[in-house]
Amino acid sequence: MAFDIEMIKKVYSQYDERIAAARQVVNKPLTLAEKILYAHLWAGNATEAYERGTSYVDFAPDRVAMQDATAQMALLQFMQAGRPKVAVPSTVHCDHLIQARDGAEQDLTRAKNESSEVFNFLSSVSNKYGIGFWKPGAGIIHQVVLENYAFPGGMMIGTDSHTVNAGGLGMVAIGVGGADACDVMAGLPWELKFPKLIGVKLTGKLSGWVAPKDVILKVAGILTVKGGTGAIVEYFGEGAESLSCTGKGTICNMGAEIGATTSTFGYDESMERYLRSTGRADVADAANAVKQHLTADPEVYANPEQYFDQLIEIDLSALEPSLNGPFTPDLYTPVSRMREEAEKNGWPLKVEWGLIGSCTNSSYEDLSRAASIAKQAIDKGLVTKAEFGINPGSEQVRYTADRDGLLKTFEDLNATIFTNACGPCIGMWDRAGADKQEKNTIVHSFNRNFAKRADGNPNTYAFVTSPEMVAAIAISGNLGFNPVTDTLINKNGEQVKLDPPTGDELPSKGFDVKDPGYQAPAVDGSSVTVDVSPTSDRLQLLEPFPAWEGTDLFGLKLLIKAKGKCTTDHISMAGPWLKYRGHLDNISNNMLIGAVNFFNDKTDFVKNQLTGEYAAVPATQRDYKASGIGSIVVGDENYGEGSSREHAAMEPRHLGVRAVLVKSFARIHETNLKKQGMLGLTFDNKDDYDKIQENDTIDILGLTEFAPGKPLTLVLHHADGTQDSILVNHTYNAQQIEWFKAGGALNIIRAKQAG
Ligand code: SF4
Repeated sequence: MAFDIEMIKKVYSQYDERIAAARQVVNKPLTLAEKILYAHLWAGNATEAYERGTSYVDFAPDRVAMQDATAQMALLQFMQAGRPKVAVPSTVHCDHLIQARDGAEQDLTRAKNESSEVFNFLSSVSNKYGIGFWKPGAGIIHQVVLENYAFPGGMMIGTDSHTVNAGGLGMVAIGVGGADACDVMAGLPWELKFPKLIGVKLTGKLSGWVAPKDVILKVAGILTVKGGTGAIVEYFGEGAESLSCTGKGTICNMGAEIGATTSTFGYDESMERYLRSTGRADVADAANAVKQHLTADPEVYANPEQYFDQLIEIDLSALEPSLNGPFTPDLYTPVSRMREEAEKNGWPLKVEWGLIGSCTNSSYEDLSRAASIAKQAIDKGLVTKAEFGINPGSEQVRYTADRDGLLKTFEDLNATIFTNACGPCIGMWDRAGADKQEKNTIVHSFNRNFAKRADGNPNTYAFVTSPEMVAAIAISGNLGFNPVTDTLINKNGEQVKLDPPTGDELPSKGFDVKDPGYQAPAVDGSSVTVDVSPTSDRLQLLEPFPAWEGTDLFGLKLLIKAKGKCTTDHISMAGPWLKYRGHLDNISNNMLIGAVNFFNDKTDFVKNQLTGEYAAVPATQRDYKASGIGSIVVGDENYGEGSSREHAAMEPRHLGVRAVLVKSFARIHETNLKKQGMLGLTFDNKDDYDKIQENDTIDILGLTEFAPGKPLTLVLHHADGTQDSILVNHTYNAQQIEWFKAGGALNIIRAKQAG
């Protein structure tokens, strides 16, 4: 099942030479992130120093990980590439398609029935092409990866934004779209703009109610959802070494919420303990042998301001437990100020649900600390005021937590134990009464809290916090409850106080599991067949997108001018739509339905310029497509932030949108647009956003001379007969321009395989 120790040893065997070469070209001591990046150059030893934030560099990742929702499209694309087997070790994890409702057993059975076609497809494609397959119920991708595959100093890509979680075990692990995963599995290099580096020096030590989650909640409050864009965050210092490996994972996990390319920590004893505890003593031994390469050079940490582009210092001893939210993960409120903030802002104080789980906080340590609060509540005669749900991170965690009585403690507090899967974190939650859209508050230990994310109700105020705080606040039923200072009244009318949580970094009796839920691929998959029914509404084999017609683009209609935040959830909503992830035409019916129309502040309500009527975005776009008319989508800042789903790029491409023009892009989404042969453009002057009018017809000029660094021109033909000409920029390099011309990167890969 597990990790490929020979592959890891090969990576480590190259480290001496590659890092020496990197040190020579960079000509100064190296950060850990630089060491890992330079050790994974596609071209081998470094021959030049790359400019951070500028140079596009080809890398050779060691692994690919995919979750079931994104794997469908990644593998449908891979099937088009014409290879007999994947080129690098790869895994598929079935975690996103399991709805939480009644409890683990019933929910898993229901999901297996409802999504059997998809699970069978993923299982058979994995079997055929040499991919490890983790069945539904085996666990959440990033917890399973941390337990089985992540290794210090490695590089991994994954078709999920929270792939970055593996930074907790010293990897450079980056969330990508399925198109990137397809490239790497097809044996091609993976391109990334060489990241900038943000150093976070951790001093002091956590204590009491403060958890690793509070570190990243604080960092998110400092950097905001955009602050990490284009950067790797490297944590170091005595405080970093004092954190557990899974705690480091939590911190790296939510690096996605600040837009960071990834986050990582240097190899230390906590990682060694974790490797040994999860059955990978040989990886720990191999890592120990190259230890000096698995952290930054000592000069870097001695004078970090000289080596990082930005430096943040956090004293763990001074941190407070905190909650971030609602509706955005960077709105930081220490628990001592929460009551006042909630009252001031009209956030409902009554808490309806406390949810523990997600890839961010579902480790054994997380469950044990939260269980210690639950246990106290029971012992002190408290009854939980809110409902309580738990999603363990993996079958290994669940089995071990069950053996050690942790799950029983939660159940004694009337908690529902859901499947080892994403569940409410991705909107796969059949929450009773959510359709009434009542204003309410929930607290959870997840990473994201955008509107509608957990239960589809836009009026659910979701707050992100640590598992132990979720437990305490759910028990109190009050968002303003501060367990550090406040008391609660128990069933006997007595005032009781919760003591700070306690827990085990790793299970004292070791991890155990009966059936981890893994399927190894066939040694020779050539005779394995992969079935996709032509009448399926869940899966659809892909047709190549058409190549660029070789001319400038004229007469494009404005489809929507999106106002404010437009995440990939707004562009390609999750929740009930997840089931169509493998069927491009069907899922395209959710295209941009969450985006707010600038001209009327409504969602999924845009003017169809052909009829003059207002209608849903997908229907309007299908009308343009049927009439052979291209269109353009306009957006605001950080357009496409959120997840790595390439559907957000493929759907507009499939329905005939020709360009997306925004004030700024989130990195993964911009790359995804490029991969699909779409034009991703940014305003040269952001104020030109105001010049876009509802009835505009738009020309894009300069494509016949499309070149790196050379702006294009847009001509806006307004309904009153006037026009504006505006300059737009792009970040396409020479190779990406070829993708555009060919109609998508996959068209080039297939041609190369055939040739
Ligand atoms: Fe699953 Fe939520 Fe983690 Fe995404 S963030 S992998 S949906 S648990």
